[in-house]
Amino acid sequence: MGELAYYASTYEEARAQFRQRATDRGGILTALSVNQQQGLFIDTALWQGSSDTLLIHVSGVHGVEAYPGSAVQCAFLDQWNPNQLGDCSLLLIHCVNPFGMRYLRRWNAHNVDLNRNFLDQFAELPANPMYSKLNDFLNPKQERQLNGFTWQALRKLLRYRFSALQQAIAQGQYSNPEGLFYGGNQLSTEASLLLEFFRQHLSHYTRIRGIDFHTGLGKFGQSSFYLEPDFSFTQHQQAESLLNTSAIYGEPGKRQSYRIQGSLIAGLKRFYHSQDFLMLTQEIGTIGPIRILQALREENYCYYHKINSQPQTAQRLKQVFCLDEPEWKETAVRAGVQSLLRLIETVG
Ligand SMILES: [Zn+2]
Repeated sequence: MGELAYYASTYEEARAQFRQRATDRGGILTALSVNQQQGLFIDTALWQGSSDTLLIHVSGVHGVEAYPGSAVQCAFLDQWNPNQLGDCSLLLIHCVNPFGMRYLRRWNAHNVDLNRNFLDQFAELPANPMYSKLNDFLNPKQERQLNGFTWQALRKLLRYRFSALQQAIAQGQYSNPEGLFYGGNQLSTEASLLLEFFRQHLSHYTRIRGIDFHTGLGKFGQSSFYLEPDFSFTQHQQAESLLNTSAIYGEPGKRQSYRIQGSLIAGLKRFYHSQDFLMLTQEIGTIGPIRILQALREENYCYYHKINSQPQTAQRLKQVFCLDEPEWKETAVRAGVQSLLRLIETVG
């Protein structure tokens, strides 16, 4: 089967494909119910080995990115032989944000960016004063303010450095519930379901290795790996040899990098705090941060102020996270599958 065939056109199709393939390969399926009435579930597939090592692969934390993410997991399931696992366990998490996948949003039904929501506490939320300064530009309330995006962006770029802007916008914010990159004011349903699932079934593992698959960041069609800065230098080296590639520390001050708060990886790292835990973010680059921001801003404006136009702007948003170009799609699937196979081969 060619890589393109793994791209589902709806959430329901992706879900069915994943569940069928995982069952065929002997995985134990669990459906975590985000909203049963609406048929929204996070699906997990587990292959249980006898050792203390658990491998994790995650897709769709940012809903719309689940189209390539699900394709990677389905293509992997077709290529993989479960014997390669040795005595390790493998957990595939399919589409952490099903609402976002179905409605082509990056955020969930409550506008929460799930990759900014895994905070250790919500009593004192992290401040982001620079975001407040950019709030009117990022979150316009009137349609006419959507016009002239490039000019508005250029003015901000002249005023602030690109890396400072990128950091302020993308690190997450907890002050505007209808704004871009909102991290929420409590643990989301999706995050609590996952953490509870780990508590119930996966807390005994002592060595954990994983990849959280995303698209959008980095150079067009290129795969990059990011490691959160609180992983040590030794872990950084370990990560690079594990995947046989370079890994970038997610820090402010670089063009293709920023530091985020409350990521899923940070949440799992906290969960496995006394264990040997190492997990990276894989990103497949698309069309660059400025055009991505423009599409996010338009879609979010329509979600709150012009819901009838949301489906069209959402389609445009999908185009920036899952390009409608066969070559890009093939590369994304190949890179995702190759990294997961490499992880299994090295650890298993
Ligand atoms: Zn993402």
